[in-house]
Amino acid sequence: MISRRSLFKGAAGSLVGLLNLRELSAAVQTSTSPSRRPKLKITDVRTAFVRSLHVRIYTDQGLVGDGEGVDAVSGGSSIVAGFRFALVGQDPLNVEAIFERLRTSGIFAGAQAGQYVAALSAVEIALWDLAGKALGLPIYQLLGGRVRERIRIYCDSGTNNRSDPKAGEFISQIIDLGFTAAKIDIDDGADPARFDRVNWTANNAEIEHMVDKVAFMRESLPKRIDLAADMHGRYDAGTGKRMARELEPFKLLWLEEPVPPENVDAMRDVRESTHTPICGGENLFLRHGFRELLEKRAVDIIMPDIQKCGGLLEARKIADMAHTYYVPMAPHCQASPMGTMASCHVLAAIPNCLVLEWHWGHPAERMLQWKQWVKEGDIIERGFVTVPDRPGIGLEMNDEFVRKLQRPGATWFA
Ligand code: MG
Repeated sequence: MISRRSLFKGAAGSLVGLLNLRELSAAVQTSTSPSRRPKLKITDVRTAFVRSLHVRIYTDQGLVGDGEGVDAVSGGSSIVAGFRFALVGQDPLNVEAIFERLRTSGIFAGAQAGQYVAALSAVEIALWDLAGKALGLPIYQLLGGRVRERIRIYCDSGTNNRSDPKAGEFISQIIDLGFTAAKIDIDDGADPARFDRVNWTANNAEIEHMVDKVAFMRESLPKRIDLAADMHGRYDAGTGKRMARELEPFKLLWLEEPVPPENVDAMRDVRESTHTPICGGENLFLRHGFRELLEKRAVDIIMPDIQKCGGLLEARKIADMAHTYYVPMAPHCQASPMGTMASCHVLAAIPNCLVLEWHWGHPAERMLQWKQWVKEGDIIERGFVTVPDRPGIGLEMNDEFVRKLQRPGATWFA
């Protein structure tokens, strides 16, 4: 029988055991705490140009971070060289502090968008890659943890009309690779039916041609594959409204930028006139660029380009702003597998992820480049990317291969 005394002794004994465990736990935490890690210092930042701007940040402990920025090609290297004052000697784990110092230092130059922010995005992504490697954690873990393991990818179709001899090949590619969504371009500056080379009011024939592109693709793709259509922000408001109405029967995943992005009221007018979901934002920058779009309910879906809107944490913040309006995010993406995977870490961590763009299916040599760009090979499997558990972005660029593709006259991380 267990006496009260033996029970007390037992409890006291386990209490001692508990204290020992606590001490052990404290000792483990002390020896492994990231806050007690040897402080990293940035020693250098270098760039390379391939299809986009690649940034590499070096540290005194041999760790290197990779980042990518798009649409910063012509001036990107010199902008990044100008960022050295806020990078060299700093602890790369203070990502927000470095980002904000660089962002605010551009205010007087009006540099809150464009190439400056695209270059800043590449730097920010390289800092996250470094932070993950220094702490031994994948980036999604640093952005709030994982809400999904696989990111849905949509395929840019490469074709859109019945008379294209390659149409069958490209449509088969979308189906055979297992994609669940695709996008086509329907705007056409070279449409022979156009009366005017400058004005963007589509006439009846042009409207008919654009609608037929959607009809053709919708007939060609199985029902399970969603279809989106892009007008590239070229047309006037009346045309935007007409197209959105004409496309209603096709139940598009979205109609992208039926009017230019600068006038948010015009985008809202189109959205209010139709049941077709409207998507926009690939040429907007920072949270500030998306505020009005969301406040005025001008779009159903936002599509920041994570390699140019400000980077990974900024994209998370934009997604969170959108989430308060119940607006999902379907980022624009032209990046290499490095940037694509960096984007996937954000999309793994946000609740309101819809789908991510992929544009490398054609021509054939581009597809070959995609498969060899990183040492891990093709990161897309049956239309989804599985986010790796390896530290940082979790991919290693195949330098030997990518170096051969760099722009003539560019220097390779020199
Ligand atoms: Mg677009």
